[in-house]
Amino acid sequence: MLYKDFGNTGIKISSLGFGCMRFPMVKSGSADIVDQDKVAQMISRAYDLGVNYYDTAYFYNGGLSEEALGKAVKDFREKIYISSKSPGHLLKAPGDFRRILEEQLKRLDTDYIDFYHFHGIGYDNFFETDKKTDWINAAARAKEEGLIRHISFSFHDKAENMKKLIDLGLFESVLCQYSAVDRSNEEAMEYAKSKGLGVVVMGPLGGGRVSGLPLQIAEKLGVKVNSSAEMALRFVFANSNVDCALSGMENLQMVEENAATASKGEPLSDDEVEAINALMKENEKLAQLYCTGCAYCMPCPQGVNIPHIFRMMNYYKIYNIYEYSKNGYAEIGTSEWLPGKRADACNQCGQCEKKCPQKIKIREQLKESHAALA
Ligand code: SF4
Ligand code: SF4
Repeated sequence: MLYKDFGNTGIKISSLGFGCMRFPMVKSGSADIVDQDKVAQMISRAYDLGVNYYDTAYFYNGGLSEEALGKAVKDFREKIYISSKSPGHLLKAPGDFRRILEEQLKRLDTDYIDFYHFHGIGYDNFFETDKKTDWINAAARAKEEGLIRHISFSFHDKAENMKKLIDLGLFESVLCQYSAVDRSNEEAMEYAKSKGLGVVVMGPLGGGRVSGLPLQIAEKLGVKVNSSAEMALRFVFANSNVDCALSGMENLQMVEENAATASKGEPLSDDEVEAINALMKENEKLAQLYCTGCAYCMPCPQGVNIPHIFRMMNYYKIYNIYEYSKNGYAEIGTSEWLPGKRADACNQCGQCEKKCPQKIKIREQLKESHAALA
């Protein structure tokens, strides 16, 4: 495994991080529970292979991830770093931050969380939540008491707002979206690095997996990789501002393969990254011939998330990224970051088409999108 200096924290972080949002589940009566045996095997193997960063959150695996992770790392807790997150939208009043943190410590069966994130914040909602809950001061107190070791944030907002959050001087690391198909945070990540923050990346969708391009694209570009996952990881490792890439690993094979890629230390070459960049730019232009993502068609009275659906459809049609686009479609309406409804909620009222500057036949294309992505 390769390790990097994690910002100014003094910590060496493994270049591969374990995203604990896709733990395998089994049935227990009518309930779904985490398959703890499998999780224990996967986490123990990841630890043996050198992974030292494990990222969970209050909601992952339907609220069961933290407890499963706590059990799985019991024997080597002190030797790894646990990352978890404060679920801002659950906090309504002063005291809520602390109450939920204490619940998370219990679930994890630990005295401290190494990296505690304000979960999925944007600049505005960070302060709105603070007004109601005083969570900035609560985090500082928890740190003073040793309940959390580093204050971090995970980010879902416009890239320029990441810089504004960094400039507050409150955070030691950031977790953000970054992959070959979503480069929007690239400059802000460089800024984070220059300000001494550690930078962890995840894929924009698909449960935090770093998103890959299909193998045919790799072949077309002359990039020699064995899998789409390898290409995805080697792409992000080529960016020196990335300290750690999270992969939401679901089985032992993924652990083995990702750890092997992260241990090789072979990021894509400059030429390979350049070839991907050129292809993505070309495809982006093609995609914009259809839908620019301007969102003038919104809001839809039925709540259909038109720009996101067309973005996924572009990935599907133009980039041939099938799994990624289907995941991105399935996830509409499952979190506050991806609100709205899928295309089948459209009742054909036609309001959106009157507002679209590209004159897209939205109703027709929504039907096509649902048939391809659902
Ligand atoms: S046609 Fe469909 S997508 Fe467009 S505004 Fe009406 S319900 Fe929404
Ligand atoms: S208005 Fe047209 S171009 Fe803009 S997001 Fe909606 S469908 Fe796409």
